[in-house]
Amino acid sequence: MDMEPKTCISCKRKVVNDAGSVTFSCPSCIQYSIVRCKNCKVNAIKYTCANCKFVGPN
Ligand SMILES: [Zn+2]
Ligand SMILES: [Zn+2]
Repeated sequence: MDMEPKTCISCKRKVVNDAGSVTFSCPSCIQYSIVRCKNCKVNAIKYTCANCKFVGPN
């Protein structure tokens, strides 16, 4: 299986069928894909880039 399961970076919930989830490159290092579920996006839950330790959103 090559498919990488998308998991919310903040709450570790799988977001495979979450229409409100977002995936974007880390605004700091641009090399790491940040995945956030709808819930964490709406509530502005903090995330930490596993690659460069950037903490967002801010
Ligand atoms: Zn989440
Ligand atoms: Zn980063």
